[in-house]
Amino acid sequence: MRPTYLEINLTQLRKNIEAIRAHVAPAKILPMVKANAYGHGVDGVAPFIEPYADSLGVAVVEEGIHLRELGIRKPILVAGATLPEQVPLFAEYDLTLDCASHDLLDMAEEVSRSTGARIKIHLNIDTGMERTGVRDYEAEAFLLKASACKHIEVEGIYTHLANSEMPDRSYSFMQLERFQGVIDLYNKHSLPVPPLRHVCNSGGILHLPEAYFEMVRPGLLFYGVYPGAEVERTIDVKPALTWRSRVAHSKRTRPGRPVSYGSLWQAEAETGIVTVPCGYADGYFRRMTNRARVLIGQKEYPQVGRICMDHFMVDVGEDDIRVGDEVILLGEGIRAEDLAQWTGTAEYEVLTDIGARVPRVYVNE
Ligand SMILES: *Cc1c(COP(=O)(O)O)cnc(C)c1O
Repeated sequence: MRPTYLEINLTQLRKNIEAIRAHVAPAKILPMVKANAYGHGVDGVAPFIEPYADSLGVAVVEEGIHLRELGIRKPILVAGATLPEQVPLFAEYDLTLDCASHDLLDMAEEVSRSTGARIKIHLNIDTGMERTGVRDYEAEAFLLKASACKHIEVEGIYTHLANSEMPDRSYSFMQLERFQGVIDLYNKHSLPVPPLRHVCNSGGILHLPEAYFEMVRPGLLFYGVYPGAEVERTIDVKPALTWRSRVAHSKRTRPGRPVSYGSLWQAEAETGIVTVPCGYADGYFRRMTNRARVLIGQKEYPQVGRICMDHFMVDVGEDDIRVGDEVILLGEGIRAEDLAQWTGTAEYEVLTDIGARVPRVYVNE
């Protein structure tokens, strides 16, 4: 196997979901396993976590189909934008539709009628994200129409928070109020409220206990990473992922012999330079050049010279580091937050961009 790989601690993922469950109970849990389970590898994560989850969430219909092909039987919510022509796939694979428009609702009802498969839908109410969904101020006709549909199953109604990780909760409270206003329309018309109301992503789970309703949708938090430095850490979760590699080349480099493309770095005095067989094609961002740090034998060393597609170099000074020694790129003290900061991005992107070329290895304590 390639010396560069991701080790995923499944036991830690189970502990994370249990910690979230204890905190939000009796609300159900829909862990998001979109984007290859936030880089952790959906093929290993989804079958393992299914028994501890109430449903699973993805973003695109192909991800939902892939879960069914893996043998997942629990409900799967495709919580992302779907085109009307893709709706028949929801009947074929028993996927739950994020119903974000009148067109999708009409299509779901028509496909359910003609195939006899009762498509499950969750009405997507846009309360302040302006991404997908029917705006709260236009929702009345939408939910009346959905309630009148005979062939679909309106199982849920939900909204998505735009600023949930921020310490200032006022935007979230405003979204929550708008969502409650839509729910109240059911009472106004003496109609039953869909059984699953849900609002909270990771930031909402940490900041908005008043918004758990019947279900929560943790993504980043399930993987043990807090969404942002400012978030309140009210639930004890831990990262489950360690990105490992090994030294593939070791040498001494002199001043006047700059390292890597662009000659962006050179030693001030002779120093030990080791080469790690991992690069930006693996998701080790080029933008971290001369900023990243790695662990070799518990000690931190600076990454130096331009990060290449398949390699990067590390200055190990006078230490005796040899070919084959283990290098930790992420995990054990190097946090997703650190890589995010060196790159100028969010923890989310650090995880989701870890490349397909990096093998995923699962450990279960
Ligand atoms: C991705 C996503 C989530 C999970 O978000 P996190 O911030 O990772 O918890 C929840 N709901 C929807 C609709 C999403 O698209």
